[in-house]
Amino acid sequence: MINKIKERLSFLKRIELTKFSAFASSYCYNLPEEIQIELTTRCNLNCPWCGRKQTKDKSAVIDKIKLKEFIKTLKGIKKVRFVGGGEPLLYPDLVEIIRFGKRYIPNVSLTTNGVLLDKKIISELVESGLSDIAVSLDGTDKKTCYKTKGTDLNQIVKNVKTLRQISNLPIEIWAVVSKENLESLKSIPELAKSLGASYIQFDHMDEIVSSNPFHKIEYNSPELREFVAIVADKCKNLNIKSNAEHLLIPKNNLFNSKICMIPFFYPFIDVNGDLTVCCINHQKLVNVFGKSFKEIWNSKETCNLRKKIIQGKYPGFCKEICGYGINKN
Ligand code: SF4
Ligand code: SF4
Repeated sequence: MINKIKERLSFLKRIELTKFSAFASSYCYNLPEEIQIELTTRCNLNCPWCGRKQTKDKSAVIDKIKLKEFIKTLKGIKKVRFVGGGEPLLYPDLVEIIRFGKRYIPNVSLTTNGVLLDKKIISELVESGLSDIAVSLDGTDKKTCYKTKGTDLNQIVKNVKTLRQISNLPIEIWAVVSKENLESLKSIPELAKSLGASYIQFDHMDEIVSSNPFHKIEYNSPELREFVAIVADKCKNLNIKSNAEHLLIPKNNLFNSKICMIPFFYPFIDVNGDLTVCCINHQKLVNVFGKSFKEIWNSKETCNLRKKIIQGKYPGFCKEICGYGINKN
């Protein structure tokens, strides 16, 4: 019953933002769909498009004690995901923090590059109560995997197969789509099936890093349309869920709203405990440590940002990366 009410509040907020646009409220009576938390900026890989390249401190870890205090205030939140500009498996207290999180939040997930998933950590993750795991894979052949992740595809595949053999943990595959890896990703449904994954999430590559040799693919290009048709069909036949069709929607704007809905539904907290504009734009809004979630979700800073977004006055970075505030799409 309570879950149904929460879902309705989220739905109502989406309707409000879509229908009332500039007259919508910056206040969120809904709770987030998911809170994303960056546990560390350490990573064992160096993907060419990763926003971590712009992070000054590339070995930071979140303060465990402060994070636990914050987690205690998350009662009522459905899901927390450990993700961000770093590899969660390199956070030294990952297992402890998942176990702790599960006392307050029904779903605790993480997104990993999969390289460090050995038998020991898999067993610990399962025992900790982890709800599901997403593995990022941006190519299905050795060469593309090396170009996108700088690592051996076989190692990741071997690790995810081990995960499947020794646990029933739901597995998702997350794939970043660019012009250069599109061809290789046409086979991602078959690879996902062989790994026992139940869902593939596709995302457009964000052009954040100037040295990145990969290129974003246009929403309405024939190549992307062909790609989506192929992978959507394969996923259907293989009984794998996917969001492939969302790739064709400009700015992933499913509700055809003029407003970017991310700050209304998907808060991102970085390694310093700062609630940021979103997982792409790491401009600090407010620090969450020592505060409750209720205090920060509709804080002055958070509402100010939402107000600007509602009025179309997006932070510069949003305009550059997502194109909001520039044209009417
Ligand atoms: S694995 Fe993830 S965090 Fe690490 S460099 Fe690649 S995209 Fe960035
Ligand atoms: S428009 Fe801004 S807030 Fe929305 S997803 Fe893009 S960078 Fe994030």
